[in-house]
Amino acid sequence: MNTSNPKVMVSACLMGINCRYDGTAKTVPELVEVLHGMELVPFCPEVLGGLETPRPPAEIQDGTGAAVLAGSARIFDRAGVDKTAAFIKGARAVLDLAREVQPEFVILKANSPSCGTGRIYDGSFGGVLRDGDGVAGALLRSAGIRVYSERDLLERTAQILGKNKC
Ligand code: SF4
Repeated sequence: MNTSNPKVMVSACLMGINCRYDGTAKTVPELVEVLHGMELVPFCPEVLGGLETPRPPAEIQDGTGAAVLAGSARIFDRAGVDKTAAFIKGARAVLDLAREVQPEFVILKANSPSCGTGRIYDGSFGGVLRDGDGVAGALLRSAGIRVYSERDLLERTAQILGKNKC
């Protein structure tokens, strides 16, 4: 990591890496343009947690990422298999990476049970959202790291980038 460019960590699926539960990406080409001149560091908490790709979709049941970290909510996949431990392991790996990389901020895929920030799926597998962060989002936020969704970044680019020295 011997570069003077500021670093930004980005959910890997936003950068075209096929790590989503269904084996696809959610590429947002504008991110590279908006973050021009910054070193982008992709990561996927669910892969870092040991989950395979593709994998059954999973959602936080009756809670948020913060509640999962506090032990008061759990994450099950659509088949009813408890995936909580893998999600927590992945979130901790992302925080370890962030402590190494020292990013200016982190861009997280909206609504994900791992990467969501502000809004996440509600556990019904019906596409319904609730307030709260995903597990990795909550852990990064609790560590004082600035987190934004890709939508935040595209909607508030000047405000978010304006907080950096670059
Ligand atoms: Fe993308 Fe995050 Fe889901 Fe990985 S865990 S596929 S980076 S939203």
